[in-house]
Amino acid sequence: MDPKKLFHDTRLDGTCVYCGAFPDTRDHVPSKVLLDEPFPLALPVVPCCKTCNNSFSFDELYIACFIECVIHGTTDPEKMSRTKIKRILNERPRLRETIEKNKKQNDQNLIWTPDKTKVNTIVVKLARGHAAYELSEPQMSDPEYIRIAPYGTLSEEELTNFENSPNQSLWPEIGSRAFVNSVVANNINFENGWNIIQDSTYRYMISHDDGICVKIVMSEYLFCEVIFS
Ligand SMILES: [Zn+2]
Repeated sequence: MDPKKLFHDTRLDGTCVYCGAFPDTRDHVPSKVLLDEPFPLALPVVPCCKTCNNSFSFDELYIACFIECVIHGTTDPEKMSRTKIKRILNERPRLRETIEKNKKQNDQNLIWTPDKTKVNTIVVKLARGHAAYELSEPQMSDPEYIRIAPYGTLSEEELTNFENSPNQSLWPEIGSRAFVNSVVANNINFENGWNIIQDSTYRYMISHDDGICVKIVMSEYLFCEVIFS
């Protein structure tokens, strides 16, 4: 029997995982704007309310486009390698303008200053979604710790610590996705503790340390760590 059916978990079925309200819709974690087509077949989905879903849409577009602009050193849609981002920047000149305002030329270097509120909001939202999906434990309270670091700002040691999985000591609760992942040996998207949603585009890892720790890497550029106590 399929272990995913055998251990189906219903604890989240009646709650928006972001605010606790009645869930009148569902949300992909990560949102599809952070991924390229073709999408993975089994994209994680969590219950959520329409208010939460709508409130995140623009900030998700912003962060997806901002990362791609920084990687390519420009807001010129034609220079983007992700075709989706090329299209969004072409269709939304005001979004492009907003990102352009975040860019400053300083001597030889381009300095990009993201809208921290938008970035924080989305990273915490993604962490909440992953924690809820994997562990069936919605995290409604504010995180105890957030670190969002672009590639190149982490030391070699920090990067090694970030990549390593402390999951050896994790005994996932029976029925949770983490439990199912640990018993489904042929899950090809599960590698060294990382859930590879899409190669080079999006991966995340969940661990229990002194709290629930969610690590996310977007476009192999933005390294995020969120801890809920
Ligand atoms: Zn909600």
